[in-house]
Amino acid sequence: MFTTLLISRGVFLIDASIIISVAAAALAAMAVGGWVGATLAGRWSNGLATLRRRIARHLPGAERTLADDLSAAVLDREMFITHQPKLRARSGTIEGVEVLLRWQHPTRGLIGPNDFISLAEERGEIRRLTEWVVRQTLVEQRLLAEAGHLMAFNINISARLLAERDFSEWALATVAEACGPIGFEITETAMIADPEGALRSLHLFADAGIKIAIDDYGAGLSSLAYLKQLPAHELKIDRMFISSLSSSHRDPLLVRSTIDLAHALDMEVTAEGVDSPASQALLKVMGCDLMQGFLIAKPMRLGELRAYLDLNDGKAPNIPNEFNWIEKSSIRT
Ligand code: C2E
Ligand code: MG
Ligand code: MG
Repeated sequence: MFTTLLISRGVFLIDASIIISVAAAALAAMAVGGWVGATLAGRWSNGLATLRRRIARHLPGAERTLADDLSAAVLDREMFITHQPKLRARSGTIEGVEVLLRWQHPTRGLIGPNDFISLAEERGEIRRLTEWVVRQTLVEQRLLAEAGHLMAFNINISARLLAERDFSEWALATVAEACGPIGFEITETAMIADPEGALRSLHLFADAGIKIAIDDYGAGLSSLAYLKQLPAHELKIDRMFISSLSSSHRDPLLVRSTIDLAHALDMEVTAEGVDSPASQALLKVMGCDLMQGFLIAKPMRLGELRAYLDLNDGKAPNIPNEFNWIEKSSIRT
């Protein structure tokens, strides 16, 4: 409400009067004394702090950057999580989701994680943000399970946090309360900054039953040594190799050999960014275990996910199992 109300000076006066009355009420409550007064005053002062932050964002001449707004975004309930379904290639069932963070900024609109995660890392906000994502994931996983769909939720964990021992301890204790499987997705940058610290945390997570997925595989400089060391259960092949799968000569070879390599290391393979039936068919033939991409479903909020799963009885909709196209493919199986 305030976002639309606070755009002009005139309306700002109305809000100022609200603030005054809220403040007066808070003072009155304190004057009454006792528990009720103190509790109400506490709530009002929280409300005042929120109002103050929101007003500061809209004051004329106050040039605020995204970074300035980041610290208040969780408190102001502007962050929310979405879920992108992952399809088991053989059975055609949705087996789990990846949790993807979004920021509904009051003036800038919807902001994707590529525009604020590194900012949060630089500003020291990533820990608080990740803790919120983990807690929220547990809540939404439970709600979905209560609606009849118990499934695995994969959370992206920033490389910087892996080396923080107390974050790992916090994560272990928190995830222990989850009602279903939880996985952590990490990128290889985690191993560059503090390999020992990152490995220690990953082993702790894996020993506690948290499944580790190597994210964006192939996009960086991943080495075989890196693959060998990590206690990972899942390898996610980066979108850049999947999107041109049916048009490139080299990508199918790279993807095929990566699938074989991962299987030899006892890992399951997820293809990221599956956005065409041709890629999907090819991946299935290549033995890819799981698929994720706009062809299967876009990231969605919990309500939509529930409806999607209810409607299709846990199966992915409208994706034919076989394609004539594949018979024409030159890829050998
Ligand atoms: P990611 O973990 O590799 O997530 C997959 C990204 O690919 C998501 O972008 C998803 O929307 C997008 N995607 C999935 N299928 C398709 C497709 O078929 N076509 C195209 N063009 N894109 C597809 P998103 O949500 O913008 O996330 C970007 C990255 O931000 C993620 O990449 C992840 O590294 C990071 N991220 C997201 N949420 C979090 C979070 O809670 N914490 C941290 N630390 N990072 C996060
Ligand atoms: Mg990911
Ligand atoms: Mg990825």
